[in-house]
Amino acid sequence: DTQQPRKPDWIRVKAPTSQGYRETHKIMREHKLVTVCEEAGCPNVGECWSQGHATMMIMGEICTRGCTFCNVATGRPDTLDVFEPGRVADAVKKLGLNHVVITSVDRDDVDDGGAEHFAQTIRAVRRQAPDTTIEILTPDFLKCDAQALEVVVAARPDVFNHNLETVPGLYPQVRPGARYFHSLRLLQRVKEIDPAMFTKSGIMVGLGEDRQSVLQVMDDMRAADVDFLTIGQYLQPTPKHHVVDRFVTPDEFKAYEKAAYGKGFLMVSATPLTRSSYHAGDDFAQLRAA
Ligand code: SF4
Ligand code: SF4
Repeated sequence: DTQQPRKPDWIRVKAPTSQGYRETHKIMREHKLVTVCEEAGCPNVGECWSQGHATMMIMGEICTRGCTFCNVATGRPDTLDVFEPGRVADAVKKLGLNHVVITSVDRDDVDDGGAEHFAQTIRAVRRQAPDTTIEILTPDFLKCDAQALEVVVAARPDVFNHNLETVPGLYPQVRPGARYFHSLRLLQRVKEIDPAMFTKSGIMVGLGEDRQSVLQVMDDMRAADVDFLTIGQYLQPTPKHHVVDRFVTPDEFKAYEKAAYGKGFLMVSATPLTRSSYHAGDDFAQLRAA
């Protein structure tokens, strides 16, 4: 079945036209940087870029995995660019970001999964833009030894985010190549290595999951000591991708948010347009002020 329901009114996207958007676009091009905002066709790009908030994707544009919700190309990636950490740091400084989200494709072709490259990028941003808080959104390091994760945590990002993406029952269809309990354990290990580090995870809904499984995922995350949670509506990037099963209503999102706070998450974003990196900086500032 490739038919999907019509987009409801609450999924509205403003065309990106502002000066802030153009400025960000220009700086990203000049630094040869790839953004998730563009690659994923994120519906918030107008708003985020106008506010100088962006999510940068490091380690290339080709991924060794092929998740069925994701618009990034699958294949054999290029070798890692040793100058990339410096360019990211430079762009963060030029954009004057308060909070940057750094993510990557999956690099099953590299021994450490790109852990050292992540660590170098974090350190470079710290040096050039010491006031910017750094959130990383990492792959699962499934094929690496335990040390890979330690290398990344030791570089001390402010927030360590790794998305579970969906409920375990949908992994074979949605996230083939990944393992639910491996990802959960990764989040737990981050907390064990550095108990002071904030951890964060997220899922998309509307992929075919039921409410009970979503609540179970929340419990699993809390058992792994995850601090922040994001839940957003899945949107199909192209007709070849996983079909939208349904559009979850704003009221259902509110109920998820309430349930999540009840389970003890420190910060929850659950709305149709929530993305892993949506308003991430605001949340963090709020938390610091609290
Ligand atoms: Fe970029 Fe994240 Fe904002 Fe989307 S929500 S435009 S990916 S920063
Ligand atoms: Fe996309 Fe990440 Fe899956 Fe690669 S691992 S296909 S970048 S979601």
